[in-house]
Amino acid sequence: MSAPTKLSTPAHPPTPMAALFVSDLHLSTAMPGTTSAFLNFLYQQAQVSQRLYLLGDVFEYWAGDDDLDTPLHQSLISALKSVSDAGVEVFWLGGNRDFLLGDRFAQAAGMTCLEEPYVAEIAEQRWLLLHGDAQCTDDTDYMAFRAQVRDPRWQQAFLARPLAERRALIEAMREGSRDAQRDKAMAIMDVNAQAIDQLFAQYRVTRMIHGHTHRPAVHETEAGIRYVLPDWDCDTAVPRGGWLGIDTAGTVHRRSLPASTPPAE
Ligand code: MN
Repeated sequence: MSAPTKLSTPAHPPTPMAALFVSDLHLSTAMPGTTSAFLNFLYQQAQVSQRLYLLGDVFEYWAGDDDLDTPLHQSLISALKSVSDAGVEVFWLGGNRDFLLGDRFAQAAGMTCLEEPYVAEIAEQRWLLLHGDAQCTDDTDYMAFRAQVRDPRWQQAFLARPLAERRALIEAMREGSRDAQRDKAMAIMDVNAQAIDQLFAQYRVTRMIHGHTHRPAVHETEAGIRYVLPDWDCDTAVPRGGWLGIDTAGTVHRRSLPASTPPAE
C-alpha cells in the first residue's frame, strides 16, 4: 500500500493535555482508514500535548525490528518522530500483538519503551499503566501461550528465524487464535476482578488505565478507578476509536472518534 498521508482538518482545534493515552489500533496494511485516523491524531492532537502513552497493540502484529522498511511502518515512524521532535515525550508499552517491538523502532520513532505495569506521575497523581492482557487470568489457554511467548529464550529463537518465516508463523497463529476466540465465553476474555484489585494494592495506586479488552468504560470500585481504552476501527461503516487525555489540572477527558462527536466526559 502507499503511505496514507492525506490529513483531514480537525473539527475542533486540538486541546493541549498533560498526557494522552491510546491503545488497540491494530494497524496493518488491511486497515488504511484506521491508519489515517491515527496519523491525524498524532499530527494534530498528540503534537500539542506534553506526553503520549501508547499502551499496546498499536500494530496488529510485530515480526521484529528488522521489519522497519514497509510503507506502513515508515509512515508510523515519521509521524511518531515528528511528535517527539515537537518536544512531546512518547512512551511505548507493548501489547499481546506487538510485544516484540524493540529498541530499533523505538529509537527511530524517538520514543521510550516502558515495562508494564508502569507507574506514571501525571499532574501530581499516580497512574498505573498496562495493556491488560496479563490480567485476563480466567483465560488459562491464553495465559499459557503468553508465558511461552514472553520467555526470552522463545523470543530469541523466534527472532533468529528469517523475517518471511516469522511473518508466516504469525499469520498461522492469528488464524488459530481467531478460531479459539469464537468458542470462548465473553467473560473469560475480560480482565479478572481479583487480578485488578491485586494491582491496585501492590502498586499502592487508586488510578489505572489499560486497553486490550475492547470494552471502553470507567469502572469505579473501593480499590480505585479504572479507565479502559477503546479499540479503533475506521475501516468499517461505523468508524470507532478514541483516546483518553489528562489535563494539567488532573482532570480526565474521554474522546471518541469521529472528532466531531461531542466528547463523553
Ligand atoms: Mn491486546
